[in-house]
Amino acid sequence: MIIRQIVNTVFRSCSYVISHEGCSWLVDCGDLDQILPLVDGDLQGVLLTHAHFDHIYGLNSLMILYPGLSVYTNQAGLDTLLNDKLNFSRYYGEPIIFNEPDRVKLVEDREWVELFDGIRAQVVFTPGHSPCCVTWIIDDVLFTGDSFIPGVKTVTNIPHSNKDLAADSEALIRELAEHRTIYSGHAPEIQ
Ligand SMILES: [Zn+2]
Repeated sequence: MIIRQIVNTVFRSCSYVISHEGCSWLVDCGDLDQILPLVDGDLQGVLLTHAHFDHIYGLNSLMILYPGLSVYTNQAGLDTLLNDKLNFSRYYGEPIIFNEPDRVKLVEDREWVELFDGIRAQVVFTPGHSPCCVTWIIDDVLFTGDSFIPGVKTVTNIPHSNKDLAADSEALIRELAEHRTIYSGHAPEIQ
């Protein structure tokens, strides 16, 4: 399994292409011009860490390019995809409403998703930064989105965030991270 990180132009949010034996999955979706060249073989699906606009703005175009693609998130994530107030895109220029709600696969806390032959992802709900935040566990790797960015205080001063939940989620992620590598939702600013 190979993981490639894309640092997107909007807020330096990160997307990740996960490839294995000629198939790929995507974690979050920003700049397609950066993401698409890294997709190896068939793109199987998109795992969302959360649905704030800086993590989903490439998604509508991606769904057109890959008509068989599904997006994995929880109910709060679907609600956020479909509401430009909840995903904050309304306040940053171009409002984003996800066009393909029927192609969302809703996941429950701790559910498993089969990615490749013999490789599964487990979703763990880690709300706080947003009600829809999840962390994806794939073997010895964690995709934490904005629930936990090493060295950065979790953002909880925005609408619908919850400081106490975020602290609980961070404690849980620290536990999960004990023997795992963290791939988070933003890359550090270049000074
Ligand atoms: Zn966010």
